[in-house]
Amino acid sequence: MQIADHITELIGGTPLVRLSRVVPPGSGLVAAKIEYLNPGGSVKDRIALKLVTAAEEAGDLQPGGTIVEPTSGNTGVGLALVAQQRGYRCIFVCPDKVGKDKIDVLRAYGAEVRVTPTSVPPEHPDSYYSVSDRLAAEIPGAFKPNQYENPNGPASHYETTGPEIWEQTHGEITHLVAGIGTGGTITGTGRFLKEISQDRAEGRVRVVGVDPEGSVYSGGSGRPYLVEGVGEDMWPGAYDPSVPDEVVAVSDAESFAMTRRLALEEGLLVGGSCGMAVVGALRVAEREPDAKIVVILPDGGRGYLGKIFDDGWMASYGFLTGDGERTTVGDVL
Ligand code: PMP
Repeated sequence: MQIADHITELIGGTPLVRLSRVVPPGSGLVAAKIEYLNPGGSVKDRIALKLVTAAEEAGDLQPGGTIVEPTSGNTGVGLALVAQQRGYRCIFVCPDKVGKDKIDVLRAYGAEVRVTPTSVPPEHPDSYYSVSDRLAAEIPGAFKPNQYENPNGPASHYETTGPEIWEQTHGEITHLVAGIGTGGTITGTGRFLKEISQDRAEGRVRVVGVDPEGSVYSGGSGRPYLVEGVGEDMWPGAYDPSVPDEVVAVSDAESFAMTRRLALEEGLLVGGSCGMAVVGALRVAEREPDAKIVVILPDGGRGYLGKIFDDGWMASYGFLTGDGERTTVGDVL
């Protein structure tokens, strides 16, 4: 009988689906890797499993230990799932700008959530960073995975996402396209695909990073942008900038318009960083009609119903003008 012993055994092994309606005629093939089909609903389940397993192997996490991480989103869900299975306590630290729905999801999985004020600087004792550092130092047996710096994040993608894509495309993939947040996905997946294809007659897989306009990976100075989960104002250790062959910048307006089209035209209810990544993939597909592109779609769209899929929210930022115009988001962030 095909019965998993636990839901965490079903992490990874996500399918590829061809995008058809959003891809202009005459463009290259674009296949989307559907990471919302992971048990916790995002690509982050993959790193959660590896971060916890590696910490156990290194002796950093002992039976009955506590996982402490500053996260409000997908990584928290993944860590909560794995922690629950293995009997660890989980404490996540979230700034108070995080929506109640996200905090409720983490609590539903049994995690504890400490909410910190957004309005204090990082060095303040009540800040998101200070509180998580203090909890990790004070709680006996606490372990802080630190997804931005931990090399096991990219390693999880080197071991799972990369080989899956190579096998699913029978080694015919020409381009990998992925958004950059911590950089773990593009670093691990891209490194694997470049290495395995290095002696191929048709040349090595090209790796294209996608970044919100204004973020550091594509040459910006930091914020502001509204797309969630991608872009940074600093360079994390999980990101190896030598892996991408190029990094393209995409505006919030283009990202959100494409996110809506993916739901309406392709039946894919996904998050804003997925729309962003698909805009990047289409830029490659339009210039290279023979390309076989795989684009990673990190999460589902249910967490964004009150934002990207809400006309009032979109209009309040000037995203519904119909001509791709965007108003400045400046101080609303
Ligand atoms: N999209 C979303 C919604 C995410 O949560 C993340 C993770 N921060 C990413 C994209 C980017 O993935 P990575 O951190 O591996 O670069």
